[in-house]
Amino acid sequence: MIEKKDFYINGKWVSPAKPNDFEVINPSTEEAFAIISLGSAEDADKAINAAKIAFETWRETTKEERLALLEKFDEIYNRRWDEMVEAQSKEMGAPLDFASETHTKMGADICRNNIEILKDFNFEHQFDPKSNNHIRYEPIGVCGLITPWNFPMNQIVLKVIPALAAGCTMILKPSEIAPVSAVLFAEMIDEAGFPAGVFNLVNGNGEVVGNHISGHPDIDMVSFTGSTRAGKLIQKNAADTIKKVTLELGGKGGNIVFADSYPNAVRDGVRNIMSNSGQSCDAPTRMLVEKPIYERAVKEAVDEANKIRVDLASKKGDHIGPLVSKVQYDKVVNLINEGIKEGATLAAGGPDLPNGLNKGYFVKPTIFSDVNNDMKIARTEIFGPVLSIIPFETEEEAIAITNDTSYGLGNYLQTEDKEKAKRVARKVRAGTVYINGQATDTGMPFGGYKQSGNGREGGVWGFTEFLEVKAITGWN
Ligand code: NAD
Repeated sequence: MIEKKDFYINGKWVSPAKPNDFEVINPSTEEAFAIISLGSAEDADKAINAAKIAFETWRETTKEERLALLEKFDEIYNRRWDEMVEAQSKEMGAPLDFASETHTKMGADICRNNIEILKDFNFEHQFDPKSNNHIRYEPIGVCGLITPWNFPMNQIVLKVIPALAAGCTMILKPSEIAPVSAVLFAEMIDEAGFPAGVFNLVNGNGEVVGNHISGHPDIDMVSFTGSTRAGKLIQKNAADTIKKVTLELGGKGGNIVFADSYPNAVRDGVRNIMSNSGQSCDAPTRMLVEKPIYERAVKEAVDEANKIRVDLASKKGDHIGPLVSKVQYDKVVNLINEGIKEGATLAAGGPDLPNGLNKGYFVKPTIFSDVNNDMKIARTEIFGPVLSIIPFETEEEAIAITNDTSYGLGNYLQTEDKEKAKRVARKVRAGTVYINGQATDTGMPFGGYKQSGNGREGGVWGFTEFLEVKAITGWN
């Protein structure tokens, strides 16, 4: 059993104010493999106070000083890669190869990208060649960073590294369900030699530590990734102190498959939603198919779903693993049963455990056809390997259905007609639009319209969220 009961506060590993052990469950086996502590308001206060004191000196560091520490961290992260792979695989059920090539790699790529951004970023400049006035970017202050479990390292690195690069100090509260990778991350920060108090980690649940962070008067900014439910609570709780709040929340992406799509469009769409066992916020969970190819598309989707292997996260290969937890498993299975009840056609998968598995939070890749956009399965973020297929007749109808959701994180479209692709991409309301399966590049902005959130992460857009901009007159 791994024991990681201490928090990282003011450059030291310290015991929680009150012991409060919490077991971390391996979702492939349903057995505990690690013990952490759930923190209290008192623990959070110690970390916030350390960050507040450290801010006075960290904000004055030069770009070169911060770059040297970030380069050191980058080297350590790459050296301790296998530990990071194992931690994420065990805590959230990512199969080993996927935990390495996707989860751990995303963290490395984002770190490198932020180092390059910091190198090139101009923190001070003249407002205008004809003006005597000046613009200066300054770190926003003490940040409260709250992250989910579905891509643990991606989400931590997307916040911590740009915040450090900008000159902010911080308290990180990772997901209590997947905290082992976060503790390892804190060990790497410690090994890199960042000054005491700049980065602090307190484990705990949302109701206690998360809530204390969002309401705290000494926190200047909260950067949150997680559910829209918690995002609303955080924004409300932050209102009294007018702190900046950035929110990366849920999604219910539409994937418009026109009749003139490239041959593998349906199969790629199925693979995309099932990846990470359906636990991706920008997953293309509603596949909208143009009527002339509807029957063929359903057949292909079912065939592809049935080919996807579900197995233990500890195995190598390109299968998918379990859902993260019992809570998530129950939610997904209930929604599958709900889809059957409300009259959608269960074309593949279903609520039973996959063949050969009698333990673990595994769900079969599931396809519903004949879905209409008013059904609960088309409106709710299921966050499991479940695809809803919806027929459409015209381009306008496809855009209307895609936009008929409270979310706006990622939309997808498939067509060989370049002009149509651009026209539709401009009209669908989401932070990212993926045309013909093309992936984004590291450093592109990521975030949501509508109830998918506020603000952007990634690249220069994510970096500048951690900066204030100051206008100074009479500079020269
Ligand atoms: P969650 O909202 O339950 O928890 C996320 C984090 O918030 C955890 O650390 C949790 O402890 C904390 N938290 C919960 N309630 C809180 C409160 N009242 N105050 C402060 N903190 C609180 O979400 P989850 O189940 O861990 O993650 C899945 C959700 O995250 C999905 O909805 C998914 O779409 C979303 N997500 C969004 C993005 C994005 O970039 N938009 C990325 C990944 C995940």
